[in-house]
Amino acid sequence: MIARAVWQKINGPVERVSRRNLEKCAGQTARRGGNSIKIRFLGTAAYEGVPALFCECDTCKKSLAAGGRNLRSRLQALVNDDLLLDFPPDTLWHTRRFGLDWTKIKTCLITHSHSDHFYPEDIQQLEPVYSHGDFFLHFYAGESGYRKLREMLNFAGAEKRIALSEVRGGDAFTAGGYDVLALPANHDPRSSPVFYAIGRDGKRLLYAHDTGVFPDSVWEILGGGPRFDLVSFDCTAGLGKWGDWREGHMTIRPALEMLQKMREAGLADCATVAVINHFSHNCGSTHDELAEAAREYGVTVAYDGFEVEF
Ligand SMILES: [Zn+2]
Ligand SMILES: [Zn+2]
Ligand SMILES: [Zn+2]
Repeated sequence: MIARAVWQKINGPVERVSRRNLEKCAGQTARRGGNSIKIRFLGTAAYEGVPALFCECDTCKKSLAAGGRNLRSRLQALVNDDLLLDFPPDTLWHTRRFGLDWTKIKTCLITHSHSDHFYPEDIQQLEPVYSHGDFFLHFYAGESGYRKLREMLNFAGAEKRIALSEVRGGDAFTAGGYDVLALPANHDPRSSPVFYAIGRDGKRLLYAHDTGVFPDSVWEILGGGPRFDLVSFDCTAGLGKWGDWREGHMTIRPALEMLQKMREAGLADCATVAVINHFSHNCGSTHDELAEAAREYGVTVAYDGFEVEF
């Protein structure tokens, strides 16, 4: 574990932006110079996917009819070509659809052990009897995921294919050449939930799923910076058609509150790309409907295949 002060030292000084500037340029995004980071959102749904397996709700029917961005698989993202965020049961589908190169992907950060984010049964495919070639993955997971994955390492030579590190909220570490900060999530504690701040070469992103409004400890750990270039907020219950969700997951309003709080703390500014992500069909809106509504807030609605470089 490395203290937050070290995360700040690694990632540079706090950059403060005046409130006035923020209001002037609210909702705009701008590229900054220097080396860039790329994130590709491979899957953008909650547990059930959209449309869900066994569902004839209006949202599922409309999403299926509209197709394209309205069809969502379970949550996963790829940073550059080598850092994977979560390992859901749709990992094989993402490999086919987006041509993931597993000779480059060496590191995987697991947010928590719910099955839509972590499906260790497929990690067993690294066993040489199923896998021919030179593959190695280092997984980082909270206690529950760590325990589940350990049970899978029961084949000869597992240590040559898989490394495993346990993380706790507040831990800062280097993984695959990235500076990573694990933050305690407001989510089912049985799943040992964390969400991640990731930085390299002065660029930083915050991948905040699955979590409700951030616990006080997150604000204490993040302090007044450094600033993030991209933030992806949990928005499982979408526009809040059935009421606002603040615990465990979020709707758009608490996500916007988190964005505003980050701006006031110097953790985000008008150049920070704000994304909402992780949608359930139960939110009652298709992607097209979410995108239309989100436009006025200056946030981007993620979809499977959405890529941002910053
Ligand atoms: Zn989830
Ligand atoms: Zn449905
Ligand atoms: Zn979850």
